[in-house]
Amino acid sequence: MARKLTNREKVENAFKTLRAGVIELLNNPNQMEAFFQQYGRNYHYNIYSSRNTMILMFETMLRKGAMFQMARGYKAWKKDYNRTVKKGEKAMYILAPQKRIIEKYIDEETGEEVKKYQHYYKSVPVFELSQTEGDPVPRNCNKNHLYKSAAEYNVEDFISKVNVPVEFEELLEANGYTDGKRIAIGKHNNDLAAICTLFHELAHLHLHYDRGEELEVYSKSERRNLKELEAETVSFMVSAALGIENNYSKEYIANWNDDEEDIDEEFEKRSYNLLMEALNQIDLFIGEEEV
Ligand SMILES: [Zn+2]
Repeated sequence: MARKLTNREKVENAFKTLRAGVIELLNNPNQMEAFFQQYGRNYHYNIYSSRNTMILMFETMLRKGAMFQMARGYKAWKKDYNRTVKKGEKAMYILAPQKRIIEKYIDEETGEEVKKYQHYYKSVPVFELSQTEGDPVPRNCNKNHLYKSAAEYNVEDFISKVNVPVEFEELLEANGYTDGKRIAIGKHNNDLAAICTLFHELAHLHLHYDRGEELEVYSKSERRNLKELEAETVSFMVSAALGIENNYSKEYIANWNDDEEDIDEEFEKRSYNLLMEALNQIDLFIGEEEV
């Protein structure tokens, strides 16, 4: 019998799953597309945070090669759905952020009590639908009222949600660019291309710049490709979640798979940040839509 994992190990494993999931999807852009389409469709039904939803989606994909449907705790399955966890199924662990007071003192100048906290994660076991059996689950979870058709998207709506200046410019050789402080989009782009360019440049701005300065690690010429791959991957994930077809990014990722195996390791280190950037953008652009 294997020994039980500690909380710390379960938390580490959850983060490993997030990185491994990105790499897995990167090897198969069609799967990446389907995966984020599914995430977008179910966005308003997910009861867990976006990061926890991703952990569950990746776990289901990596363990079972299947698409995540829904998850609940052991007791909630029984109580709310009259289902039980199948014999031998192992829990999937999601992350619950916690804090505890590690120091308390009275500030001598203000006379007020000051508390210092330590932040940490607690791992919480849940099970995916396919790991359970019992009464059928009512299937209202696949209704698709989030999606607009891609033609209904308007680039100005997107720009209004971004908190850096975005301007249209006459550009000859690029669809857009950023200097870390503002974003320019080529006037020649149609609305959907402009939206995908916005996702791409936002990813550059958040991942590759710090307060307007390009991060040194990315300024080296051999990292240019990596930088573009990261921005294209984010753009592809976000557009798929919003139901926008983005073949340019899909091909870019597919070609990278063929040509540039050597940046795999570098990429893996950053895959977590990349995923979080995509999730943040999805929250920004569809999080407040009315259900
Ligand atoms: Zn770029």
